[in-house]
Amino acid sequence: MTWIDLHIDTLGRMDADGADPLARCRQTHVDLPRLLRTGVRAAVWAAWVEDRREAPPATAVALRMLGHGLDLVARSRGRVRLVRAPSDLAACRTGKSTGMILGLEGAHPLQGSVELLEGFHALGVRVVTLTWNDPNRFACGCGVSRRHDTGLAPRGRKLIARLHELGMLLDLAHASPRTLDHALRVVRRPFLVSHTACAALHAHVRNLTDAQLRDVAAAGGLVGISVCPHFLGAEVASVRATQVADHVIHALGQAGVDSVAIGTDLDGIAAVPQDIRGVQHLPRLAAILARRGLSAREIERVCWRNAVRTLREGLKGEAAA
Ligand SMILES: [Zn+2]
Repeated sequence: MTWIDLHIDTLGRMDADGADPLARCRQTHVDLPRLLRTGVRAAVWAAWVEDRREAPPATAVALRMLGHGLDLVARSRGRVRLVRAPSDLAACRTGKSTGMILGLEGAHPLQGSVELLEGFHALGVRVVTLTWNDPNRFACGCGVSRRHDTGLAPRGRKLIARLHELGMLLDLAHASPRTLDHALRVVRRPFLVSHTACAALHAHVRNLTDAQLRDVAAAGGLVGISVCPHFLGAEVASVRATQVADHVIHALGQAGVDSVAIGTDLDGIAAVPQDIRGVQHLPRLAAILARRGLSAREIERVCWRNAVRTLREGLKGEAAA
């Protein structure tokens, strides 16, 4: 079985706890041996910084976290490959290495400057989530009330255009409803909603409604279903992989078989499903999906193929595409 995980927060564990996922690591949900053994051919390793202050410290912390990722690549002796171009994804197919796609979760470390994106691109960042939960100078996050939801700002529009030009993927996870709505009208390249779930099954500000699932798919977006128990059900402590499967199947019904993937949010969540305590347990989800009647082909699309297609397309700069 082969996987791509559209969102992990392991860089945060490295930064906050000094965790080292190069070898088996008990502090984290994800480490290199488990990624390789489970067949995770690539993952988006996100750098997340608290977004209350859109100030230089956020930029410094983001750079430090991205540095942890680059350091891991350097120490891995080829077992972790930095994914900067479509060809780097193909290189991960042998299973001897896993691809690291660097992500910036929340554009607030850019301090409102589209120009600063260039530097993050040069470091290898290829996925940018517009917001975390709070508003920033590009857009509103999902933590604002409906009354204060001003959606995408003009410079957010410029940021999306620049992402397209540079071959970086827009990620609309954490977007407010209006930000999502506005972004869907201006997006021209494949994009992600990397870690979310279905509001129809569990009401949560981070989840997508059925209409949003359909609109995201129609606009060329790929929806990553998270294993975060808070998104999946009301009884957080009792959430299991079967509920992750419920959300995957519901998303497939709305967005279609080409527009659903997995974005676990592992290492970014305080609680995990009872039977998915780390990345090594993802095959349990695939087994449940098979029992629920999904074909091998459909499961392959959700776990791997849709993500490869979207990443490969998104990593092409607009000029190349
Ligand atoms: Zn997140």
